[in-house]
Amino acid sequence: MSNLKEAAINLIARKATDIQLDDIVRQLQGLPPRPEGDEPLKKLFGYIEAEKGSSAAIESQRPSGYDPTQPIDWSNNNAKISKYFTVGEVTQQDPRRIPKGDVIKQVLKLALELDKVREAWGKPLGVTSWYRPEAINFAVGGSTYSQHIQGHAADIYPIGGDTYEFQDWLDSRWGDALGYGAARGFVHVDMRDGVGFNGQYGSVRWNY
Ligand SMILES: [Zn+2]
Repeated sequence: MSNLKEAAINLIARKATDIQLDDIVRQLQGLPPRPEGDEPLKKLFGYIEAEKGSSAAIESQRPSGYDPTQPIDWSNNNAKISKYFTVGEVTQQDPRRIPKGDVIKQVLKLALELDKVREAWGKPLGVTSWYRPEAINFAVGGSTYSQHIQGHAADIYPIGGDTYEFQDWLDSRWGDALGYGAARGFVHVDMRDGVGFNGQYGSVRWNY
């Protein structure tokens, strides 16, 4: 994994061809090689961005299948909590952020809505922040009434896509609260109204 990444960075330094880069990106994503690439650089940068945000962000590296009848192993960053999202995305790989009690229900409720966003958008999403226990929310400068404390807020971005474009797209489809954070690399969504992704504009919107 890290060898591939190193190879990719070396190739960029040596002005590799697009096809060489595309091959590497496809390997990183667990896809078969393809003779002609589309926007390989963009994909590679998307991958590197995703690595910065969350090392659990690349869907193809996750265990396949999600069984909602099985208990979630909150100590395993790669364990799935829904079709597309993992423990590591909720906790940002920080065991202090493992949800407990009622917060778990809120986390899972949001995950189902984010699964819908992921399917409708059609490409992988990354998460820069999800559950924040009060002490951590305070430490990172989150607002006192942050919905992240409840477990039903997440800051998300499109992997290998344009965050502004994603923000505009989601704005008209997220029927709940949404914060315009694209300038800071994410879109905040939360479920304070219990609505989620219903294909319509929600009533609460703000800028960061
Ligand atoms: Zn947020």
